[in-house]
Amino acid sequence: MRRTNTCGELRAADLGKKVCLQGWVRFSRDHGGVAFIDLADRYGITQIVFDPEDLPAGTDVQRISDIMKTFTRESVVSIDGIVRKRVEGTEDGRNPTGEIEVLITDAELLNKSAAPPFELGDQKEGVLPNEDVRMKYRYLDLRRTEMIQAMEFRSKLVHLARQYLEQNGFLEIETPILGRSTPEGARDYVVPSRVHPGTFYALPQSPQQFKQMLMVASMDRYYQVARCFRDEDSRKDRQPEFTQLDLEMSFVDMKDIQDMMEGMVSYIWKGLYGQDLQTPFPHIAYRDAMERFGSDKPDMRYGLEFVKLTDVVRDAPYKIFQNILAEGGIVAGMNLKADIAGEKIGRNDVDRYIHYAKKVGLGGLTWMRCVNGKLESNIVKYFTPEILENIKTTMGAEEGDLLFIVAGPWKATYESAGFLRKKVAEDLDIVPKDQFQFFWMDQCPMFEVDPVSGKYDAFHHPFVLPENDLDDDYVGGACFDLCLNGNELGSGSLRIHDPELQKAVFHKLGMDDERIERSFGYFVEMLSYGAPPHGGIAIGIDRLCAILLNKDTIREVIAFPKNKRAVSLLDGSPSKIDDEKLEELQIISLAGDLDLGDFEDSDDSE
Ligand code: ASP
Repeated sequence: MRRTNTCGELRAADLGKKVCLQGWVRFSRDHGGVAFIDLADRYGITQIVFDPEDLPAGTDVQRISDIMKTFTRESVVSIDGIVRKRVEGTEDGRNPTGEIEVLITDAELLNKSAAPPFELGDQKEGVLPNEDVRMKYRYLDLRRTEMIQAMEFRSKLVHLARQYLEQNGFLEIETPILGRSTPEGARDYVVPSRVHPGTFYALPQSPQQFKQMLMVASMDRYYQVARCFRDEDSRKDRQPEFTQLDLEMSFVDMKDIQDMMEGMVSYIWKGLYGQDLQTPFPHIAYRDAMERFGSDKPDMRYGLEFVKLTDVVRDAPYKIFQNILAEGGIVAGMNLKADIAGEKIGRNDVDRYIHYAKKVGLGGLTWMRCVNGKLESNIVKYFTPEILENIKTTMGAEEGDLLFIVAGPWKATYESAGFLRKKVAEDLDIVPKDQFQFFWMDQCPMFEVDPVSGKYDAFHHPFVLPENDLDDDYVGGACFDLCLNGNELGSGSLRIHDPELQKAVFHKLGMDDERIERSFGYFVEMLSYGAPPHGGIAIGIDRLCAILLNKDTIREVIAFPKNKRAVSLLDGSPSKIDDEKLEELQIISLAGDLDLGDFEDSDDSE
């Protein structure tokens, strides 16, 4: 028996054809002598029928019947048969093969399946087992139509990206997995060297330094579908290993990189959906994004924008605001208009939001409601009528509107307020889920200064080109993020190509010459051999696929993800290794059994 067709292929035009299908027994049922099988493979599902009355003369009916008795659920089988029309009224309009069925003339069990631990047929919501069970039997979970579609989507998306980049002269070049630590801001995964005991390779957090070296090597345009490794706590959109579409270009400015990305995303869009994506993507400055939406990756598909009230309330005799303002903090408000929220958010709900605000790091949440033309709440007594009137006008408050007011240090307050904004929007169900809005977040700072220690941290990473003198009060970085619907898809920047400037940035980040030499000596030296001006970007493939497919977590678009606790339930990694191996690597054996804890109740919040 040799497969002639897939299970998603046959149509009414094939009636009468002799075919051989091979696939998995998804579902079978016996209607008093006439038996049906839903035979599934990657391409679809075809109905197979065993109808003894209708079989060609000479067919060994008993033999087929006996073989079919061995067809347990999810067994892989081979079916010879004839394509026939389904009985009128039994067609399945939702299935592309739903007009036909295949009348069995011979059958073979290719391999029997043990009883699957969960149902692989189309699942009604909520019927799927616990995610850890899906992970343990991922090879079965991946047989489900939804997962097959996710894998197909991802493959197509990556293929389109490759096609576009190849057409634009990019070279796909692989960079090492075993390397030196890269400063992308997370912990490294490390691999011990047997040959040089006591030394370690680090798995790349990204190919950043190598792609810059490729520019120095005159490659001009590089890309890679690159696996990156970061030892961070898992979240919905994070995994210990994930995939970036990584690229770098020489002799470019920021607009060149952004134009190339817009071209690529539009090409992918057209290939996936057959539609033109609107370009150029809008831009929003980092400060605006924070102050208007409380996020550096704001979801701008809905309003609920913050409005600055710092100056309006400066003279109010309200102690809490006074203390915050005295320390250089901000006050900002969000107007929940009567038509979308006023009625829906009652006094108890306000209390819930106050509780939530504290949970996400705000000191508290002040609220006022516009009733009979005036702002009312338990704290209006601390504000003069003029200040209240001014708040009302600044916020554009009208009858029935509810104002949420937050206060505190600039960054922390806006960030927390952004979580509150998102929560309110989700509760009010005003997020247009079928809209996709790409945009650039730019005009970023080069550094972030820790308010307590005064220590400088790179806003993106230390290779970003500063836009002005490093001794200026504010230093901008030539960097930007590509965002989609409240998610950061990736970041890019122009890079430093002057070794002295690179050293100066390392100094600013608190490294002395010895440390620079030890950690980045080779990199700084490389810049001294005619490094061209260059820049690039990296986009998270997992995240892009998950957002476009409206999936809750990137685990839904990764074939073999780790679970929420960075454990692979499929192969049981991470695992202990034999003492001999540890000895060979000269690593002291960990005492006792490793306890990986309870896999199931880990936090999956953002
Ligand atoms: N390597 C950077 C990252 O992974 C992206 C880039 O600057 O190209 O965030």
